[in-house]
Amino acid sequence: MAHDHDHHEHDHDDEHEHEHELDEDARAEAEAEARRRFALSQIRQYGDPALRLKANEVEEFDDDLRRLVERMTTLMHEAQGVGLAATQVGILRRLFVFEADEDGPKAIVNPVVVERAEETASDSEGCLSLQGVKVPVERSVRVVLEGKDPDGNDVRYELDEYGSRVVQHELDHLDGVLIIDRTDDEHRREALAELRPRAVLR
Ligand SMILES: [Zn+2]
Repeated sequence: MAHDHDHHEHDHDDEHEHEHELDEDARAEAEAEARRRFALSQIRQYGDPALRLKANEVEEFDDDLRRLVERMTTLMHEAQGVGLAATQVGILRRLFVFEADEDGPKAIVNPVVVERAEETASDSEGCLSLQGVKVPVERSVRVVLEGKDPDGNDVRYELDEYGSRVVQHELDHLDGVLIIDRTDDEHRREALAELRPRAVLR
């Protein structure tokens, strides 16, 4: 899931900031943008068949799995996202990484929603695999997720509204479901108009 850039702010309250510092700010920003674009180039984009496939249960909790989780966590950070599913890097296994709060990144393997609030809310969502698209999606406001960590230990997450939204988005990826499937017809049409020319050009 993509980070909401609307909330991105710069803190420049020192009007006597030196030019040199501004140069460094600009360079750091350009470098972060280059890293973001490179990370996105390694994430499957809309039109890629892997995004429509159902992922399989993970059976082996080995070094390969842990390396995959590390790679996905780095990609999520560099792409400035808040969640990334294995299907988005072309790996059809049931796991995703997410970072929905200040507690740092988490990985969950073979995730299952064990409790779900009946109450739902609609909010705007983006996706690292659907660049330039933001659509309203209705989600349960609270879910409890159970699964394994990359070492095979049981984990359970009781998530707040934002965390619940992130994990429901990532869980959908493991079943080949995208935000355009979950939004209303009007937003779906707009999103497809945004995505189609790009899918053809690739
Ligand atoms: Zn996504």
